[in-house]
Amino acid sequence: MKLYSVNAGHFKLDGGAMFGVVPKSMWNKINPADENNMCSWALRCLLIEDGNRLILVDNGMGDKQDAKFFGHYYLHGADSLDTSLARHGFHRDDITDVFLTHLHFDHCGGAIKKEGDKLIPAFKNATYWSNEKHLNWALHPNDREKASFLKENILPISESGQLKFIDLPSGEQEEKLQQSDFIDGFSVRFVNGHTEKMMLPQLSYKGRTIVYMADLLPSAGHIPIPYVMAYDMFPLTTLKEKKSFLQEAFDNNYILFFEHDPALECCTLAMTEKGIRVKENFLLSSI
Ligand SMILES: [Zn+2]
Repeated sequence: MKLYSVNAGHFKLDGGAMFGVVPKSMWNKINPADENNMCSWALRCLLIEDGNRLILVDNGMGDKQDAKFFGHYYLHGADSLDTSLARHGFHRDDITDVFLTHLHFDHCGGAIKKEGDKLIPAFKNATYWSNEKHLNWALHPNDREKASFLKENILPISESGQLKFIDLPSGEQEEKLQQSDFIDGFSVRFVNGHTEKMMLPQLSYKGRTIVYMADLLPSAGHIPIPYVMAYDMFPLTTLKEKKSFLQEAFDNNYILFFEHDPALECCTLAMTEKGIRVKENFLLSSI
């Protein structure tokens, strides 16, 4: 198995919304906001090459909306999904599987593109992976989460004919880690605080364990326990999930891979007097 970091660009979100109840005087030190109170975040995907499989985990925001939509999110930086894939010698048509941690637009927007008036799969040779409970949750969104589940993503994905479901966990133990029949060394952790049945890929790689954090820990700045996004549907569930995950990750020296951290790609964890914090940070390519 070979892993590659694929950056689909950077975007901006309100710093206050990203850090929930934590005051700006504290989070602004680690993620400085611009004059509109917006902070920059990455859209960092993970590419897994294994035999004849090429699996892309998440795919950024895509580019099909109008200028008004992108006016809210300030896409910036030189990277795009296609240029990042090309840097590793790949093309989007090489992708055999698109694994969607969840269906919020900044994770699955790149899965659907606009061709004329039609919305069609942007990875024509790929199987798309979600899970049944999450798709149902996204198809019937609550008023708070509606702005993240865009109909121009959810319906075309569900009707694409390319969508398959990862098996749902049958108990609490499996909720923690579900073996997938994907490829060897790839399992799935299910968490429910950010949204219903978000899936975090966990990989065995070169003798280490790497976890793709998606929106459980969007950035290293979210490692301190109370730093929970206002976007989370069930913040107290996120607290529990963070605590138990961070302890397990520290005990077993896991590597965390961040989807949204603007600078840090990977880190290990250390126990400090304040709790669990970053030990070392490094690039995926250095492992
Ligand atoms: Zn996100």
